[in-house]
Amino acid sequence: MKPLTSRFARLLPGVLPSLLLALSAISAHAQTPAAAVPLPALQALAAQEQPALLKTLQQLVEIESGSSDRQGLDRIAAVVSQRLKDLGGEVTLLEPGADLYRMFDTPEKVGPMVLARFKGCQGRGKVLLIAHMDTVYPRGMLAQQPFRIEGQRAYGLGIADDKQGVATILHVLAMLKATGWKDCGEITVLINGDEEISSPASRHRITQLGGEHDAVLSFEGGGGPEGPDILRLATSGIGAATLSVKGRASHAGAAPERGVNALYELSHQVLQARDLSDPKVGRQVHWTVSRSGVVRNMIPPTAEASADVRVERVEDFDLIEAELRKRIQNRLLPESEVSLSFERRRPPLHATPASRALGATLTTLAAEQGLALVVRDVPTGGGTDAAFAAAATRAPVVEGLGVRGFGAHSNQAEFVQLDSIAPKLVLVARALMALGAKP
Ligand SMILES: [Zn+2]
Repeated sequence: MKPLTSRFARLLPGVLPSLLLALSAISAHAQTPAAAVPLPALQALAAQEQPALLKTLQQLVEIESGSSDRQGLDRIAAVVSQRLKDLGGEVTLLEPGADLYRMFDTPEKVGPMVLARFKGCQGRGKVLLIAHMDTVYPRGMLAQQPFRIEGQRAYGLGIADDKQGVATILHVLAMLKATGWKDCGEITVLINGDEEISSPASRHRITQLGGEHDAVLSFEGGGGPEGPDILRLATSGIGAATLSVKGRASHAGAAPERGVNALYELSHQVLQARDLSDPKVGRQVHWTVSRSGVVRNMIPPTAEASADVRVERVEDFDLIEAELRKRIQNRLLPESEVSLSFERRRPPLHATPASRALGATLTTLAAEQGLALVVRDVPTGGGTDAAFAAAATRAPVVEGLGVRGFGAHSNQAEFVQLDSIAPKLVLVARALMALGAKP
C-alpha cells in the first residue's frame, strides 16, 4: 500500500468540500468525544475507502487459509503484517508457543498470529481490535467459488467469516490515519490464524491482551444481509466431551462370549449421560457423534461417542466434567474400560455493566448516522474469541463490529453485504475516537 498521506491527497478533491463544511459545524458536536472528526467528513472518507476495502477483500479471499493450512496461513499473515506496517504499526509475527491448548482437532502446525501496536497517540484510551484470518475451508475449494461481486454482494470463501473483519480493521485504521486523528492511548490489533479450531494457540494471548486494554472490539460479522446491524455482548461457552470404550474383539458368530462388546457399553454410557442439560441456566449436553466396531461379524472392540457442550456459566464446565467422571464408573460390562476426555473449547462471554455501557455508546453513535444497531445481551449458541478477551478483565468486550453478511461455514454462497461496509467503517472509526479520548 502507498503511504496514506498520498492516498488522502487523492481523496481530497471529493472529500474537501464536505470536510470543510463539517469542520465549520464542529463546535456543534464538540460535546461528544466522537466528534474529533465530524461525521460528514468520516462518511465521505468511508465512501471513498469502500473500493479499496473490496480490493483488500479480494486479495484476502484469494489466499486460501484453512486452519490446518500452515502454508496458506503464512502467506496471508505476511500480507496482513505488511499492511499493518504500512499503516504505521509495530508488527510482530507470533508463533504458537508452549502454552498451546491441544484439542482432538488441533493440527500439527497451528497458524501464527499477527500483532500490531499503534503508538504515538496523545489520548489515553487503549483499545484492542481482534479478527481472525483462518477459515473452515480446506485448500482447493476456492477454484469453485472465486471472489466475485454481484449487485450489493461480494462473494467468496471465508469472506464473511472472517476476512471482512480483517479488512474492516485495516481500512478503519487507514481512514483514521488519513484524518490525522491522534486522540488515542494505543491501538493494538491481533489477527489470529486458529479461531475456527477454537484458538488453541491464541487463546492465552488474547486473554492477556484483553487485560491490557480499556476496551476490546471484535470483528466477527455484524448481522445478516437484510439487517439490522447486531452487536453481541454475550456468546456461548463451548465444550466437547468424548467417551472412549475399550472392549475385546471376538468372532461374532463362533465365539461371541469371548468378546466384550464396546458398543453395548458405549450405549449404556450415553444413555446414562443423556440428562445433563439444564436449559434454565443455559447448560446443554447433547451426544451427537458415535462410532464403533470394525466389521459386522466381529464383536466390536472399541467405541467412541462425542457430545456438544454449551454453557452460559464457566463453572458448568467443571460441573459437567465431574458428573461425567462420576457416572462412567457405573459400567454395564465390568470388563470394559471407559475413559473421558473433556475439552473446554471456549468460555462464555457475559454482558457486563461495562459492555452494556459501550453498547449504548455504539447505539448512539450508530443512530447519529441513521443506523439502527441492535444490542444482544443473551447468547444464541455461537462462540467467539471475544470470550477469551473478556476472560481476565472488567473492560468492555463487544462482538460483531464486522460488516453484515451470510453463509459462514457453508460451502456455497458466502457473502458480505456491500451497503453495510461504509456505515460500519464510520461507526468503528467513531467508536475508536470515543474510546481513545478516555480510558
Ligand atoms: Zn469467525
